[in-house]
Amino acid sequence: MLKSINKLNKLHRLGLRFYSTGEQDVVVIGGGPGGYVAGIKAAQLGMKVTVVESRGALGGTCLNVGCIPSKALLNASHLYEQATEKMAGYGVKATGVTLDLPTMLKYKEKTVVGLTSGIELLFKKNKVEYAKGHGKITSPNQVEVTAQDGTKKTIQTKNIVIATGSEVTSLPGVTIDEETIVSSTGALSLKQVPKKMIVIGGGVIGLELGSVWSRLGAETTVVEFTPRIAAGADGEVAKKFQKSLEKQHIKFHLETKVTSVVKKPTGGVTVTVEAVGGSGFTGTLDADVVLVSVGRRPNTTNLGLKEQNIQTDKQGRVEINHNFQTNVPSVYAIGDVIKGPMLAHKAEEEGIAVMEYLKSGGGHVNYGAIPSVIYTHPEVAWVGKTEEELTKEGTQFNVGKFPFIANSRAKTNDDTEGFVKFLSAKDTDRILGVHIMGASAGEMIAESVLAMEYGASSEDIARTCHAHPTLSEGVKEAAMAAYGKAIHI
Ligand SMILES: Cc1cc2nc3c(=O)[nH]c(=O)nc-3n(C[C@H](O)[C@H](O)[C@H](O)COP(=O)(O)OP(=O)(O)OC[C@H]3O[C@@H](n4cnc5c(N)ncnc54)[C@H](O)[C@@H]3O)c2cc1C
Repeated sequence: MLKSINKLNKLHRLGLRFYSTGEQDVVVIGGGPGGYVAGIKAAQLGMKVTVVESRGALGGTCLNVGCIPSKALLNASHLYEQATEKMAGYGVKATGVTLDLPTMLKYKEKTVVGLTSGIELLFKKNKVEYAKGHGKITSPNQVEVTAQDGTKKTIQTKNIVIATGSEVTSLPGVTIDEETIVSSTGALSLKQVPKKMIVIGGGVIGLELGSVWSRLGAETTVVEFTPRIAAGADGEVAKKFQKSLEKQHIKFHLETKVTSVVKKPTGGVTVTVEAVGGSGFTGTLDADVVLVSVGRRPNTTNLGLKEQNIQTDKQGRVEINHNFQTNVPSVYAIGDVIKGPMLAHKAEEEGIAVMEYLKSGGGHVNYGAIPSVIYTHPEVAWVGKTEEELTKEGTQFNVGKFPFIANSRAKTNDDTEGFVKFLSAKDTDRILGVHIMGASAGEMIAESVLAMEYGASSEDIARTCHAHPTLSEGVKEAAMAAYGKAIHI
Protein backbone atom coordinates (compact mmCIF):
# COMPACT_ATOMS: atom_id res chain seq x y z
CA MET A 1 0.00 0.00 0.00
CA LEU A 2 2.72 2.44 1.11
CA LYS A 3 4.71 1.56 -2.01
CA SER A 4 1.83 2.42 -4.30
CA ILE A 5 1.17 5.68 -2.43
CA ASN A 6 4.83 6.67 -2.89
CA LYS A 7 4.60 5.85 -6.60
CA LEU A 8 1.49 8.00 -6.94
CA ASN A 9 3.16 10.82 -5.02
CA LYS A 10 6.06 10.67 -7.49
CA LEU A 11 3.70 10.87 -10.45
CA HIS A 12 2.01 13.77 -8.80
CA ARG A 13 5.25 15.68 -8.40
CA LEU A 14 5.75 15.17 -12.12
CA GLY A 15 2.47 16.99 -12.66
CA LEU A 16 0.46 13.88 -13.54
CA ARG A 17 -2.67 14.37 -11.54
CA PHE A 18 -4.84 11.74 -13.26
CA TYR A 19 -3.46 8.42 -12.24
CA SER A 20 -5.26 5.62 -13.99
CA THR A 21 -7.46 5.13 -16.98
CA GLY A 22 -10.57 4.72 -14.78
CA GLU A 23 -14.09 5.47 -15.98
CA GLN A 24 -14.65 8.82 -14.28
CA ASP A 25 -12.17 11.67 -13.95
CA VAL A 26 -13.47 12.38 -10.49
CA VAL A 27 -16.01 11.08 -7.99
CA VAL A 28 -17.19 13.49 -5.30
CA ILE A 29 -18.57 11.90 -2.13
CA GLY A 30 -21.20 14.23 -0.63
CA GLY A 31 -23.64 16.55 -2.39
CA GLY A 32 -23.53 19.54 -0.01
CA PRO A 33 -22.36 23.06 -0.93
CA GLY A 34 -18.80 21.78 -1.22
CA GLY A 35 -19.62 18.62 -3.17
CA TYR A 36 -22.34 19.82 -5.52
CA VAL A 37 -20.42 22.96 -6.48
CA ALA A 38 -17.30 20.83 -7.02
CA GLY A 39 -19.36 18.50 -9.23
CA ILE A 40 -20.70 21.32 -11.39
CA LYS A 41 -17.29 22.97 -11.66
CA ALA A 42 -15.67 19.66 -12.67
CA ALA A 43 -18.23 19.21 -15.45
CA GLN A 44 -17.76 22.80 -16.61
CA LEU A 45 -14.04 22.12 -16.84
CA GLY A 46 -14.72 19.11 -19.06
CA MET A 47 -14.25 16.32 -16.54
CA LYS A 48 -16.41 13.22 -16.27
CA VAL A 49 -17.81 13.49 -12.77
CA THR A 50 -20.15 11.63 -10.43
CA VAL A 51 -21.47 13.07 -7.18
CA VAL A 52 -22.50 10.47 -4.59
CA GLU A 53 -25.06 11.55 -2.00
CA SER A 54 -26.70 9.39 0.64
CA ARG A 55 -29.46 11.61 2.05
CA GLY A 56 -31.78 11.33 -0.96
CA ALA A 57 -31.58 15.06 -1.69
CA LEU A 58 -28.77 17.31 -2.83
CA GLY A 59 -27.64 20.44 -0.98
CA GLY A 60 -26.20 18.79 2.14
CA THR A 61 -26.62 20.14 5.63
CA CYS A 62 -26.87 23.67 4.31
CA LEU A 63 -29.93 23.34 2.12
CA ASN A 64 -31.69 20.53 3.98
CA VAL A 65 -31.17 21.20 7.70
CA GLY A 66 -28.89 24.25 7.94
CA CYS A 67 -28.50 27.61 6.26
CA ILE A 68 -31.68 27.59 4.20
CA PRO A 69 -34.39 26.29 6.57
CA SER A 70 -32.95 28.39 9.41
CA LYS A 71 -33.06 31.53 7.27
CA ALA A 72 -36.62 30.76 6.18
CA LEU A 73 -37.68 30.59 9.84
CA LEU A 74 -35.65 33.70 10.70
CA ASN A 75 -37.40 35.57 7.91
CA ALA A 76 -40.89 34.36 8.86
CA SER A 77 -40.42 34.92 12.60
CA HIS A 78 -39.03 38.42 11.94
CA LEU A 79 -42.15 39.26 9.92
CA TYR A 80 -44.33 37.92 12.73
CA GLU A 81 -42.49 40.07 15.25
CA GLN A 82 -42.78 43.12 12.99
CA ALA A 83 -46.50 42.52 12.50
CA THR A 84 -47.20 42.05 16.20
CA GLU A 85 -44.85 44.66 17.66
CA LYS A 86 -43.74 47.24 15.12
CA MET A 87 -46.02 47.74 12.14
CA ALA A 88 -48.80 49.58 13.95
CA GLY A 89 -46.30 52.30 14.83
CA TYR A 90 -45.77 52.92 11.09
CA GLY A 91 -49.48 53.25 10.49
CA VAL A 92 -49.94 49.71 9.23
CA LYS A 93 -52.63 48.30 11.46
CA ALA A 94 -53.22 44.58 11.13
CA THR A 95 -55.78 43.20 13.52
CA GLY A 96 -55.92 39.60 14.66
CA VAL A 97 -52.35 38.70 13.69
CA THR A 98 -51.80 35.13 14.87
CA LEU A 99 -49.10 32.55 14.47
CA ASP A 100 -49.86 29.64 12.15
CA LEU A 101 -46.83 27.46 12.88
CA PRO A 102 -47.76 24.55 10.54
CA THR A 103 -47.96 27.00 7.61
CA MET A 104 -44.66 28.60 8.61
CA LEU A 105 -43.03 25.15 8.66
CA LYS A 106 -44.58 24.34 5.27
CA TYR A 107 -43.15 27.57 3.83
CA LYS A 108 -39.74 26.52 5.17
CA GLU A 109 -40.09 23.06 3.58
CA LYS A 110 -41.15 24.56 0.26
CA THR A 111 -38.06 26.77 0.24
CA VAL A 112 -35.84 23.75 0.94
CA VAL A 113 -37.43 21.51 -1.71
CA GLY A 114 -37.33 24.28 -4.32
CA LEU A 115 -33.61 24.77 -3.83
CA THR A 116 -32.55 21.13 -3.48
CA SER A 117 -34.47 20.10 -6.62
CA GLY A 118 -32.92 23.10 -8.38
CA ILE A 119 -29.49 21.50 -7.86
CA GLU A 120 -30.70 18.31 -9.56
CA LEU A 121 -31.62 20.45 -12.56
CA LEU A 122 -28.18 22.07 -12.51
CA PHE A 123 -26.64 18.59 -12.47
CA LYS A 124 -28.65 17.59 -15.54
CA LYS A 125 -27.80 20.83 -17.33
CA ASN A 126 -24.08 20.39 -16.66
CA LYS A 127 -24.04 16.61 -17.18
CA VAL A 128 -22.99 15.76 -13.66
CA GLU A 129 -23.83 12.15 -12.81
CA TYR A 130 -25.72 11.77 -9.56
CA ALA A 131 -25.32 8.48 -7.68
CA LYS A 132 -27.82 8.13 -4.85
CA GLY A 133 -26.38 6.13 -1.98
CA HIS A 134 -23.62 5.86 0.58
CA GLY A 135 -20.12 6.24 -0.86
CA LYS A 136 -17.16 4.32 0.52
CA ILE A 137 -13.59 4.53 -0.73
CA THR A 138 -12.53 0.95 -1.45
CA SER A 139 -9.24 1.76 -3.19
CA PRO A 140 -7.45 4.98 -4.24
CA ASN A 141 -9.37 4.75 -7.54
CA GLN A 142 -12.66 3.15 -6.53
CA VAL A 143 -15.79 4.27 -4.76
CA GLU A 144 -18.41 1.74 -3.77
CA VAL A 145 -21.95 3.14 -3.69
CA THR A 146 -24.58 1.38 -1.60
CA ALA A 147 -28.11 2.42 -2.51
CA GLN A 148 -30.89 2.55 0.07
CA ASP A 149 -32.18 -0.85 -1.07
CA GLY A 150 -28.74 -2.35 -0.35
CA THR A 151 -27.61 -2.78 -3.97
CA LYS A 152 -23.98 -1.93 -4.54
CA LYS A 153 -22.04 -0.62 -7.50
CA THR A 154 -18.41 0.33 -7.84
CA ILE A 155 -17.26 3.40 -9.73
CA GLN A 156 -13.74 3.48 -11.15
CA THR A 157 -12.23 6.94 -11.00
CA LYS A 158 -8.99 8.78 -11.45
CA ASN A 159 -9.59 11.03 -8.45
CA ILE A 160 -11.87 11.15 -5.42
CA VAL A 161 -13.00 14.26 -3.53
CA ILE A 162 -14.33 13.73 -0.01
CA ALA A 163 -17.03 16.33 0.71
CA THR A 164 -18.96 14.48 3.39
CA GLY A 165 -19.44 17.52 5.63
CA SER A 166 -20.24 17.47 9.30
CA GLU A 167 -22.84 16.17 11.71
CA VAL A 168 -24.37 17.26 14.98
CA THR A 169 -22.50 16.64 18.26
CA SER A 170 -23.95 16.51 21.76
CA LEU A 171 -22.60 16.81 25.27
CA PRO A 172 -21.37 13.68 27.04
CA GLY A 173 -24.34 11.89 28.57
CA VAL A 174 -26.93 14.01 26.75
CA THR A 175 -29.07 12.04 24.31
CA ILE A 176 -30.77 14.01 21.58
CA ASP A 177 -34.33 12.77 20.90
CA GLU A 178 -35.19 15.64 18.49
CA GLU A 179 -38.39 16.32 20.43
CA THR A 180 -37.57 17.68 23.86
CA ILE A 181 -33.78 17.55 23.64
CA VAL A 182 -33.11 18.73 20.12
CA SER A 183 -30.19 19.47 17.84
CA SER A 184 -30.39 22.24 15.26
CA THR A 185 -32.21 19.74 13.01
CA GLY A 186 -35.02 19.19 15.53
CA ALA A 187 -35.16 22.91 16.35
CA LEU A 188 -36.08 23.57 12.71
CA SER A 189 -39.25 21.49 13.01
CA LEU A 190 -40.72 21.91 16.51
CA LYS A 191 -44.43 21.17 16.31
CA GLN A 192 -45.33 23.86 18.81
CA VAL A 193 -43.68 26.90 20.32
CA PRO A 194 -42.12 25.86 23.65
CA LYS A 195 -43.07 27.99 26.65
CA LYS A 196 -39.50 27.82 27.85
CA MET A 197 -36.46 26.97 25.79
CA ILE A 198 -32.86 26.52 26.88
CA VAL A 199 -30.16 26.87 24.28
CA ILE A 200 -26.88 25.21 25.22
CA GLY A 201 -24.14 27.05 23.34
CA GLY A 202 -24.05 30.75 22.42
CA GLY A 203 -22.58 30.30 18.94
CA VAL A 204 -24.07 31.25 15.60
CA ILE A 205 -26.52 28.33 15.32
CA GLY A 206 -27.77 28.61 18.91
CA LEU A 207 -28.30 32.36 18.63
CA GLU A 208 -30.11 32.14 15.29
CA LEU A 209 -32.47 29.35 16.32
CA GLY A 210 -32.86 30.79 19.83
CA SER A 211 -33.96 34.04 18.15
CA VAL A 212 -36.52 32.25 16.00
CA TRP A 213 -38.30 30.60 18.93
CA SER A 214 -37.93 33.63 21.16
CA ARG A 215 -39.65 35.80 18.53
CA LEU A 216 -42.44 33.24 18.28
CA GLY A 217 -43.00 33.44 22.04
CA ALA A 218 -40.60 31.05 23.81
CA GLU A 219 -38.96 32.33 26.99
CA THR A 220 -35.39 31.66 25.86
CA THR A 221 -32.23 31.26 27.93
CA VAL A 222 -28.79 30.71 26.45
CA VAL A 223 -26.19 28.84 28.55
CA GLU A 224 -22.63 29.40 27.36
CA PHE A 225 -19.43 27.94 28.81
CA THR A 226 -17.12 30.83 27.80
CA PRO A 227 -17.38 34.44 29.05
CA ARG A 228 -18.84 35.67 25.74
CA ILE A 229 -21.24 34.79 22.96
CA ALA A 230 -20.65 34.64 19.19
CA ALA A 231 -17.17 33.11 19.20
CA GLY A 232 -15.09 34.45 16.32
CA ALA A 233 -16.81 37.85 16.24
CA ASP A 234 -15.02 40.99 17.41
CA GLY A 235 -15.29 41.28 21.22
CA GLU A 236 -16.87 44.75 21.20
CA VAL A 237 -19.45 43.62 18.65
CA ALA A 238 -20.22 40.47 20.65
CA LYS A 239 -20.90 42.54 23.81
CA LYS A 240 -23.23 44.97 22.02
CA PHE A 241 -24.90 42.10 20.22
CA GLN A 242 -25.62 40.36 23.51
CA LYS A 243 -27.20 43.55 24.88
CA SER A 244 -29.36 43.76 21.78
CA LEU A 245 -30.54 40.17 22.19
CA GLU A 246 -31.22 40.82 25.88
CA LYS A 247 -33.48 43.69 24.85
CA GLN A 248 -35.30 41.10 22.76
CA HIS A 249 -35.87 39.16 26.01
CA ILE A 250 -33.26 36.44 25.48
CA LYS A 251 -31.49 35.65 28.78
CA PHE A 252 -27.85 34.63 29.05
CA HIS A 253 -25.84 32.61 31.54
CA LEU A 254 -22.20 32.99 30.51
CA GLU A 255 -19.29 31.16 32.15
CA THR A 256 -21.77 28.43 32.93
CA LYS A 257 -21.31 24.73 32.35
CA VAL A 258 -24.13 22.27 31.81
CA THR A 259 -23.59 19.23 34.03
CA SER A 260 -26.77 17.30 33.24
CA VAL A 261 -29.88 17.37 31.11
CA VAL A 262 -32.65 15.18 32.48
CA LYS A 263 -36.07 14.58 30.98
CA LYS A 264 -38.89 14.83 33.53
CA PRO A 265 -41.47 12.02 33.65
CA THR A 266 -44.20 14.68 33.49
CA GLY A 267 -42.71 16.26 30.36
CA GLY A 268 -40.07 18.93 29.93
CA VAL A 269 -36.44 18.89 30.92
CA THR A 270 -34.30 19.96 33.87
CA VAL A 271 -30.89 21.32 33.05
CA THR A 272 -28.36 21.47 35.86
CA VAL A 273 -25.64 24.06 35.48
CA GLU A 274 -22.53 25.10 37.34
CA ALA A 275 -20.63 28.39 37.31
CA VAL A 276 -17.15 28.13 35.81
CA GLY A 277 -16.32 31.84 36.19
CA GLY A 278 -17.28 34.99 38.09
CA SER A 279 -20.43 35.75 36.10
CA GLY A 280 -21.57 32.13 35.96
CA PHE A 281 -24.72 30.61 37.43
CA THR A 282 -25.09 27.48 39.53
CA GLY A 283 -28.46 25.81 39.86
CA THR A 284 -31.19 24.19 37.80
CA LEU A 285 -33.17 25.51 34.85
CA ASP A 286 -36.46 24.07 33.60
CA ALA A 287 -37.55 24.06 30.00
CA ASP A 288 -39.99 22.44 27.61
CA VAL A 289 -37.31 22.11 24.96
CA VAL A 290 -33.52 22.14 25.17
CA LEU A 291 -31.50 22.93 22.06
CA VAL A 292 -28.01 21.47 22.13
CA SER A 293 -25.88 23.59 19.82
CA VAL A 294 -22.34 22.91 20.99
CA GLY A 295 -20.67 22.36 17.65
CA ARG A 296 -20.41 19.85 14.83
CA ARG A 297 -17.98 17.07 14.03
CA PRO A 298 -16.62 15.90 10.67
CA ASN A 299 -18.72 13.20 9.05
CA THR A 300 -16.47 10.30 8.09
CA THR A 301 -18.60 7.32 9.11
CA ASN A 302 -17.96 4.18 7.05
CA LEU A 303 -16.07 6.19 4.43
CA GLY A 304 -13.14 3.77 4.23
CA LEU A 305 -10.59 6.22 5.66
CA LYS A 306 -8.97 3.70 8.00
CA GLU A 307 -8.86 0.93 5.40
CA GLN A 308 -7.19 3.27 2.89
CA ASN A 309 -4.85 4.81 5.52
CA ILE A 310 -6.20 8.30 4.84
CA GLN A 311 -4.98 10.49 7.66
CA THR A 312 -7.23 12.49 9.98
CA ASP A 313 -6.29 14.98 12.70
CA LYS A 314 -7.17 14.88 16.42
CA GLN A 315 -10.64 16.28 15.75
CA GLY A 316 -11.30 13.62 13.13
CA ARG A 317 -10.98 16.04 10.20
CA VAL A 318 -9.44 14.72 7.00
CA GLU A 319 -5.89 16.04 6.74
CA ILE A 320 -4.96 17.79 3.51
CA ASN A 321 -2.09 19.78 2.03
CA HIS A 322 -2.44 23.26 0.47
CA ASN A 323 -4.00 21.64 -2.62
CA PHE A 324 -6.73 19.82 -0.66
CA GLN A 325 -4.86 16.56 -1.27
CA THR A 326 -4.78 13.86 1.39
CA ASN A 327 -1.80 11.59 2.00
CA VAL A 328 -3.31 9.29 -0.69
CA PRO A 329 -2.54 11.36 -3.81
CA SER A 330 -5.71 10.56 -5.77
CA VAL A 331 -7.92 11.48 -2.81
CA TYR A 332 -8.79 15.09 -1.95
CA ALA A 333 -11.08 16.65 0.67
CA ILE A 334 -13.01 19.90 1.03
CA GLY A 335 -15.66 21.61 3.17
CA ASP A 336 -16.68 20.91 6.75
CA VAL A 337 -14.79 17.61 6.77
CA ILE A 338 -11.44 19.46 6.68
CA LYS A 339 -10.01 22.24 8.86
CA GLY A 340 -11.31 25.80 8.76
CA PRO A 341 -14.62 27.49 9.47
CA MET A 342 -17.70 25.32 8.95
CA LEU A 343 -19.38 27.59 6.42
CA ALA A 344 -21.21 26.80 3.20
CA HIS A 345 -19.45 29.50 1.17
CA LYS A 346 -16.03 28.31 2.37
CA ALA A 347 -16.96 24.78 1.22
CA GLU A 348 -18.11 26.15 -2.16
CA GLU A 349 -14.87 28.06 -2.74
CA GLU A 350 -12.92 24.91 -1.93
CA GLY A 351 -15.11 22.90 -4.32
CA ILE A 352 -14.16 25.23 -7.16
CA ALA A 353 -10.50 25.45 -6.17
CA VAL A 354 -10.01 21.67 -5.92
CA MET A 355 -11.42 21.13 -9.42
CA GLU A 356 -9.30 23.94 -10.86
CA TYR A 357 -6.32 22.29 -9.24
CA LEU A 358 -7.20 18.90 -10.73
CA LYS A 359 -7.69 20.42 -14.16
CA SER A 360 -4.77 22.81 -14.38
CA GLY A 361 -2.67 22.66 -11.23
CA GLY A 362 -3.98 26.06 -10.04
CA GLY A 363 -6.75 26.70 -7.55
CA HIS A 364 -6.81 28.94 -4.54
CA VAL A 365 -8.95 30.04 -1.61
CA ASN A 366 -8.15 33.24 0.28
CA TYR A 367 -8.89 32.20 3.86
CA GLY A 368 -8.19 35.75 5.01
CA ALA A 369 -11.28 36.99 3.22
CA ILE A 370 -14.05 34.57 4.20
CA PRO A 371 -17.04 36.43 5.64
CA SER A 372 -19.05 35.21 8.63
CA VAL A 373 -22.66 36.20 9.26
CA ILE A 374 -25.15 35.74 12.10
CA TYR A 375 -28.60 36.18 10.58
CA THR A 376 -30.42 37.48 13.65
CA HIS A 377 -31.87 40.96 13.91
CA PRO A 378 -29.73 42.99 13.95
CA GLU A 379 -27.40 40.84 11.87
CA VAL A 380 -23.72 40.51 12.69
CA ALA A 381 -21.18 40.15 9.88
CA TRP A 382 -17.46 40.30 9.72
CA VAL A 383 -14.42 39.61 7.60
CA GLY A 384 -10.72 39.57 8.45
CA LYS A 385 -9.20 40.07 11.87
CA THR A 386 -10.84 41.15 15.11
CA GLU A 387 -9.41 43.83 17.39
CA GLU A 388 -8.37 41.10 19.86
CA GLU A 389 -6.51 39.14 17.18
CA LEU A 390 -4.62 42.21 15.96
CA THR A 391 -3.68 43.21 19.50
CA LYS A 392 -2.51 39.68 20.27
CA GLU A 393 -0.27 39.53 17.21
CA GLY A 394 1.12 43.00 17.95
CA THR A 395 -0.12 44.67 14.75
CA GLN A 396 -0.52 48.44 14.94
CA PHE A 397 -3.95 49.45 13.66
CA ASN A 398 -6.42 52.28 13.33
CA VAL A 399 -10.07 51.92 14.31
CA GLY A 400 -12.88 53.71 12.50
CA LYS A 401 -16.46 53.38 13.73
CA PHE A 402 -19.81 54.65 12.62
CA PRO A 403 -23.14 54.01 14.39
CA PHE A 404 -26.32 53.37 12.41
CA ILE A 405 -28.12 55.90 14.63
CA ALA A 406 -26.32 58.52 12.49
CA ASN A 407 -27.25 56.86 9.18
CA SER A 408 -30.22 58.41 7.40
CA ARG A 409 -31.58 55.16 5.93
CA ALA A 410 -31.39 53.36 9.27
CA LYS A 411 -33.26 56.27 10.84
CA THR A 412 -35.86 56.26 8.07
CA ASN A 413 -36.35 52.53 8.58
CA ASP A 414 -36.56 53.03 12.35
CA ASP A 415 -33.87 50.36 12.64
CA THR A 416 -30.81 52.10 14.03
CA GLU A 417 -29.24 49.45 16.23
CA GLY A 418 -25.60 48.66 15.60
CA PHE A 419 -22.49 50.07 14.03
CA VAL A 420 -19.69 49.48 11.54
CA LYS A 421 -16.11 49.08 12.69
CA PHE A 422 -13.11 49.26 10.41
CA LEU A 423 -9.67 48.04 11.43
CA SER A 424 -6.85 49.17 9.14
CA ALA A 425 -3.06 48.99 9.28
CA LYS A 426 -1.55 52.04 11.00
CA ASP A 427 1.29 52.35 8.47
CA THR A 428 -0.42 51.50 5.15
CA ASP A 429 -4.15 51.96 5.86
CA ARG A 430 -4.74 48.49 4.36
CA ILE A 431 -8.02 47.04 5.61
CA LEU A 432 -7.38 44.27 8.15
CA GLY A 433 -10.90 43.61 9.37
CA VAL A 434 -14.45 44.92 9.04
CA HIS A 435 -17.18 44.22 11.58
CA ILE A 436 -20.81 45.19 11.16
CA MET A 437 -23.75 44.85 13.50
CA GLY A 438 -26.97 46.10 11.97
CA ALA A 439 -29.86 45.30 9.67
CA SER A 440 -28.59 43.72 6.41
CA ALA A 441 -25.02 43.44 7.76
CA GLY A 442 -24.75 40.11 5.89
CA GLU A 443 -25.38 41.86 2.57
CA MET A 444 -23.21 44.87 3.39
CA ILE A 445 -20.13 42.84 4.30
CA ALA A 446 -19.64 41.79 0.65
CA GLU A 447 -18.16 45.17 -0.22
CA SER A 448 -15.50 44.81 2.45
CA VAL A 449 -14.73 41.21 1.42
CA LEU A 450 -14.11 42.42 -2.13
CA ALA A 451 -12.01 45.31 -0.82
CA MET A 452 -9.87 42.88 1.18
CA GLU A 453 -9.51 40.58 -1.86
CA TYR A 454 -8.12 43.57 -3.75
CA GLY A 455 -5.87 44.57 -0.85
CA ALA A 456 -7.74 47.89 -0.56
CA SER A 457 -7.18 50.60 2.03
CA SER A 458 -9.93 52.16 4.12
CA GLU A 459 -9.40 55.32 2.05
CA ASP A 460 -10.35 53.33 -1.08
CA ILE A 461 -13.78 52.59 0.40
CA ALA A 462 -14.08 56.07 1.89
CA ARG A 463 -13.54 57.64 -1.56
CA THR A 464 -16.00 55.28 -3.27
CA CYS A 465 -19.37 56.89 -3.94
CA HIS A 466 -22.18 55.07 -2.10
CA ALA A 467 -25.85 55.63 -2.97
CA HIS A 468 -27.88 57.80 -0.63
CA PRO A 469 -29.80 56.98 1.44
CA THR A 470 -28.43 53.48 2.04
CA LEU A 471 -27.19 51.56 5.03
CA SER A 472 -23.94 51.00 3.14
CA GLU A 473 -23.13 54.66 3.64
CA GLY A 474 -22.42 53.55 7.20
CA VAL A 475 -19.63 51.36 5.80
CA LYS A 476 -18.18 54.32 3.89
CA GLU A 477 -18.36 56.55 6.97
CA ALA A 478 -16.61 53.97 9.16
CA ALA A 479 -13.89 53.70 6.50
CA MET A 480 -13.61 57.51 6.54
CA ALA A 481 -13.27 57.40 10.31
CA ALA A 482 -10.45 54.84 10.03
CA TYR A 483 -8.25 56.98 7.79
CA GLY A 484 -9.53 60.46 8.62
CA LYS A 485 -12.88 61.64 9.91
CA ALA A 486 -16.48 60.63 9.30
CA ILE A 487 -18.76 63.38 7.99
CA HIS A 488 -22.05 62.65 9.67
CA ILE A 489 -20.95 62.30 13.28
C1 LIG B 1 -28.64 25.08 11.54
C2 LIG B 1 -27.46 25.42 10.67
C3 LIG B 1 -27.41 26.65 10.06
C4 LIG B 1 -26.35 26.97 9.23
N1 LIG B 1 -26.33 28.20 8.64
C5 LIG B 1 -25.32 28.53 7.84
C6 LIG B 1 -25.30 29.78 7.17
O1 LIG B 1 -26.22 30.58 7.30
N2 LIG B 1 -24.26 30.06 6.36
C7 LIG B 1 -23.22 29.18 6.19
O2 LIG B 1 -22.28 29.50 5.45
N3 LIG B 1 -23.20 27.98 6.81
C8 LIG B 1 -24.22 27.64 7.62
N4 LIG B 1 -24.22 26.41 8.21
C9 LIG B 1 -23.07 25.52 7.98
C10 LIG B 1 -23.21 24.84 6.61
O3 LIG B 1 -24.41 24.12 6.56
C11 LIG B 1 -22.03 23.93 6.36
O4 LIG B 1 -20.82 24.63 6.57
C12 LIG B 1 -22.05 23.40 4.95
O5 LIG B 1 -23.23 22.70 4.69
C13 LIG B 1 -20.84 22.51 4.69
O6 LIG B 1 -20.89 22.02 3.40
P1 LIG B 1 -20.24 20.61 3.02
O7 LIG B 1 -20.52 20.42 1.58
O8 LIG B 1 -18.84 20.57 3.49
O9 LIG B 1 -21.01 19.53 3.88
P2 LIG B 1 -22.54 19.19 4.08
O10 LIG B 1 -23.42 20.30 3.72
O11 LIG B 1 -22.66 18.62 5.45
O12 LIG B 1 -22.81 18.08 3.00
C14 LIG B 1 -22.24 16.82 3.07
C15 LIG B 1 -23.16 15.82 2.41
O13 LIG B 1 -22.48 14.59 2.30
C16 LIG B 1 -23.38 13.54 2.50
N5 LIG B 1 -22.61 12.37 2.90
C17 LIG B 1 -21.88 12.20 4.03
N6 LIG B 1 -21.23 11.03 4.01
C18 LIG B 1 -21.56 10.45 2.83
C19 LIG B 1 -21.19 9.24 2.22
N7 LIG B 1 -20.32 8.40 2.79
N8 LIG B 1 -21.73 8.95 1.02
C20 LIG B 1 -22.58 9.79 0.38
N9 LIG B 1 -22.95 10.98 0.93
C21 LIG B 1 -22.43 11.29 2.12
C22 LIG B 1 -24.31 14.06 3.58
O14 LIG B 1 -25.56 13.39 3.52
C23 LIG B 1 -24.43 15.53 3.20
O15 LIG B 1 -25.56 15.76 2.40
C24 LIG B 1 -25.31 26.04 9.03
C25 LIG B 1 -25.35 24.79 9.63
C26 LIG B 1 -26.42 24.47 10.43
C27 LIG B 1 -26.48 23.11 11.07
